[in-house]
Amino acid sequence: PLVFSQISHSYGATPVLHELDFAVEPGQITCLLGPSGGGKSTLLRLAAGLEKVQRGEIHVDNEVLANDGLHPPPEARPVGLMFQENALFPNMTVAENIAFGIRDLSRREQQEKVKELLELVGLDEYGQRYPHQLSGGQQQRIALVRSLAPEPKILLMDEPYASIDITLRRTLREAARRTIKEKGTTAILVTHDPDEAMEMADSIAVLDQGVIAQVGTPQEVFESPATVAVATLFGGSQ
Ligand code: ATP
Ligand code: MG
Repeated sequence: PLVFSQISHSYGATPVLHELDFAVEPGQITCLLGPSGGGKSTLLRLAAGLEKVQRGEIHVDNEVLANDGLHPPPEARPVGLMFQENALFPNMTVAENIAFGIRDLSRREQQEKVKELLELVGLDEYGQRYPHQLSGGQQQRIALVRSLAPEPKILLMDEPYASIDITLRRTLREAARRTIKEKGTTAILVTHDPDEAMEMADSIAVLDQGVIAQVGTPQEVFESPATVAVATLFGGSQ
């Protein structure tokens, strides 16, 4: 599992995370929700190595990944990232974009991997196109498989579908869920959309005021919210 243990984090004098404990089970999709400014992106950035751990530890499979004295660079971590602003490289074809993260493999291995991933998202014919020749949703699907190409043990997605219309979002969710499950990847998906969480998640976690307010199955969180904030998020009543 991916474990955050007693993580505290401040920006300057402003505390954001408070002795936060959070464990993500392997092979599961965990959706992370919570109020804006609550620290969701910060948590992902700490795991990815874009932010230094100040207090506490992050573990992967019972080994320390990062703490205040250990800060491996992002590329040395078994962690893939997909952020909304993660644009494709415009000067590379779709195939080159996907192969970018696996350029240490042989040419043949790269080609096979690219083909497999394009098929997974139903875009086998698109390898030689450039990003600007794809629709927004097609670009998102390519961004998804690009982040999966190096087969990261852990995939962190920060509102990947936020700017996409609702119909397409549904298609993308399905593609993402299928692809992640097929690869057995452990995933955290940050979203503001409770419907998306109910549909995508094996487990839902709510980050509120710097701590995890609740973790549970979608049904548990929906039916038995632990705090008013969780209840409000899912439109339920206390
Ligand atoms: P949102 O749902 O709006 O994306 P979030 O839960 O992802 O919010 P974070 O981006 O982690 O929240 O931000 C948590 C708090 O830390 C906010 O108050 C934000 O303004 C602040 N913050 C984030 N990044 C920095 C930074 N690099 N420097 C200073 N303050 C920051
Ligand atoms: Mg954020």
